[in-house]
Parts: sequence; C-alpha cells; structure tokens
Amino acid sequence: MATNRTFTMIKPDAFAEGNSGAILKMIEEAGFKIVAMKATQLTKEIAGKFYEVHSARPFYADLCAYMSSGPIIAAILEKENAVEDFRKLIGATNPADAADGTIRKIFAKSIEANAVHGSDSDENAAIEGAFYFSMTERVG
Ligand code: GDP
Repeated sequence: MATNRTFTMIKPDAFAEGNSGAILKMIEEAGFKIVAMKATQLTKEIAGKFYEVHSARPFYADLCAYMSSGPIIAAILEKENAVEDFRKLIGATNPADAADGTIRKIFAKSIEANAVHGSDSDENAAIEGAFYFSMTERVG
C-alpha cells in the first residue's frame, strides 16, 4: 500500500559541506512537503539503535562512527507514494550506481558517506519518524 510519508536524514558529510539547503531545495521541488525537521547530532549509541537492523554487517561500527561524526538534519516528508518516490529521488546506496540527477549522484562521496537517508518501507518510515519526533514536534 502506498504511504504519504517518509523519513530522511541529511547525513554528516552533506551537512558539513553546506549542502543541506541545496538538498532540501531538490526535495521540495520534487513535491515533498516538510512535516517535521530538526538539526541534531547523534551519539554513537543512538546511531547504533537507529541502524540496529545492520548490526551483523561488517560496516556497522564504521557506519555508527560516521553517523555520529557531525550534525545531521532529520525530517519527515509528505507526498503521495512518498517512500518509493523518495528512494527514486535519492538514488542507489552506492553513488557510483546512482542515476544521473539523483541526490546521491550529485552530493554523495562514497557508499558510506552517501549524503542522505531515505526509509525503505512504509513500516520503517513510521518507525524512523517516531524515533526522532514526538507528536508535538510534527504537523499531524
Ligand atoms: P540505504 O537504504 O540505501 O541507505 O542502504 P542500506 O540500508 O543497505 O545501508 C544503510 C547505510 O549503511 C547506507 O546508506 C550507507 O551509509 C551504509 N552502507 C551500506 N552499505 C555499505 C558498505 O558496503 N560499506 C559501508 N562502509 N557502508 C555501507
């Protein structure tokens, strides 16, 4: 079933290089409405909880270190068919494989420092949005 919300993070590499504004512009121009947004910095422990599903993967420790290495922007986005359309907008995990014009193709540095996160399912979009934002911090 299509959902109308997804969750994103502008990751430390993109934030540090001052690409947040350009990325948010692409997101809004693609028709996504910002429902909640904040700048924050994760601890290694919180990054570990967010990416717990990857805890058995060899890159897990590196990923937690990277995601806690600097500020990020977390946001909930609204649009029809949000999860699928946002995955298309950001492109493949590895920027080398990402299609031209996608956010990762333009801004990502590597398979790890890949500029943005986008939820991969309706269920995870709801879980991830609730991980960062209470009901009083989002529109609806
Ligand atoms: P996503 O859904 O496209 O973000 O990709 P995954 O859920 O598979 O991986 C989560 C995140 O882990 C990615 O966005 C990357 O930041 C990182 N990652 C994925 N694969 C690798 C890898 O092979 N090596 C490293 N160092 N990081 C990876």
